[in-house]
Amino acid sequence: MKIRGHRKRRIKLKFKFRIKNRALVRICAAAAGMMVFALVLLPLLLAAFFHAGDIPPLQQDRENRKITLYRQQEGRTVILDLETYVAGVVAGEMPSSFEMEALKAQAVAARTYGLSKVVRAEAAGNSAEHFSAPLCDTTHCQVYRSEEELTELKGQGWMEDGWLKIRQAAEATAGEIMYHNGALVEQPLFHSASGGKTENSEDVFVSALPYLRSVESRFEEEAPYQSENISVSLATFEKKVREKYGASNINANTIKVISRSEGGRVQEMQAGDKVLSGRDVRELFGLRSANFTIAFDGSNNIIFTTHGYGHGVGMSQWGANGMAKEGYNYKEILQHYYIGVTVE
Ligand SMILES: [Zn+2]
Repeated sequence: MKIRGHRKRRIKLKFKFRIKNRALVRICAAAAGMMVFALVLLPLLLAAFFHAGDIPPLQQDRENRKITLYRQQEGRTVILDLETYVAGVVAGEMPSSFEMEALKAQAVAARTYGLSKVVRAEAAGNSAEHFSAPLCDTTHCQVYRSEEELTELKGQGWMEDGWLKIRQAAEATAGEIMYHNGALVEQPLFHSASGGKTENSEDVFVSALPYLRSVESRFEEEAPYQSENISVSLATFEKKVREKYGASNINANTIKVISRSEGGRVQEMQAGDKVLSGRDVRELFGLRSANFTIAFDGSNNIIFTTHGYGHGVGMSQWGANGMAKEGYNYKEILQHYYIGVTVE
């Protein structure tokens, strides 16, 4: 018992000393912490803040930025200079015969999309489709062609002419990216030709994005497929819609456009006892766009007349080329098709 009591007192004493000691240590630690903050961290934070204000983080070190790309065909991952990647994407997406300002606009869109995938992968990991890289070279991300592939595809003459022009478009805009309200633009979508007006993103895809709003696309005169007629027999229409959507009671009186989006694309179309989206109809009959009208020719054929080519959201490539011919520069083109963006 005695021994126990003695031990208890010793423990109490030790405990008291420890408490005093701990309080002392805390005061010292707090003082040291404050000194470290004032002398080291605060200046670093301030420097980082002002530095970031001057140069958006994605543009820092722009000369040396690399892109890790999964090459689907070869099944391997390669590392490329950012601008080599951007030029290889522009070459895959836009004719080199387009105006320089249109090619520059495409280069900024390609770079913005590529880097947005990199940033997303840094936060959430690479896609399950290509876990070794944030980007792949197919339409899953965006199409990229290497110099060797382009030489084979387009010939040496093109490499000395078209490829040089595209490289120039990438280099002239090196490192430039689109921002919206200070945030990186993640979906700089584009399409071949709108048919006169682009679409709100939510009318074609799921989410409403502030920079993907319906705008006029005035200079598409040179675009192909401005007005294309596709004839589908009523029997084929009936069969396809019945097989895919289980529709019945399909005849000339029960096929009609119900509603259109702001950009003019078919939103809802009646087909017998079913209502299909314009996008469904476009896919089912391989139409160039969901911006179409329907008519009947008197011999049991439906005539689809389509306007434009592609989904209609974001930048119209032919519209961009038309704007460039009218004297608009690449920033004006981008700011026309992507509402409220800055190019930095
Ligand atoms: Zn991909």
